[in-house]
Amino acid sequence: MATPRHAFLMWIAQSNRMPTRVRLASWGLGVSSNCCLCDSAPETHDHLLLRCDISKQVWVLILSRLGYTHSCFITWTSFIEWLSLRDSTIPLIFKRIVAQGTIYIL
Ligand SMILES: [Zn+2]
Repeated sequence: MATPRHAFLMWIAQSNRMPTRVRLASWGLGVSSNCCLCDSAPETHDHLLLRCDISKQVWVLILSRLGYTHSCFITWTSFIEWLSLRDSTIPLIFKRIVAQGTIYIL
């Protein structure tokens, strides 16, 4: 029931294989390693998808619309744990589809 491109990008993110700017710079490409969203911190996997102020604002909106009271995730591990937990707020498949779409958009 997942959108293929969203699920594929989620798989890339879960494998920690996203071509973040820090990663591109480490490969010798002449790019700034700062975040493409805020330009104030190194663009790592966790920063871009979870810790960036702009990403946090997106997660706050998404989570509040879904009915959750917590507003963001500290680590990728905590995000994956949240994705694995069944709860009474929304069905697990809907939670995963929304999370994959959000990661794709970010
Ligand atoms: Zn940022």
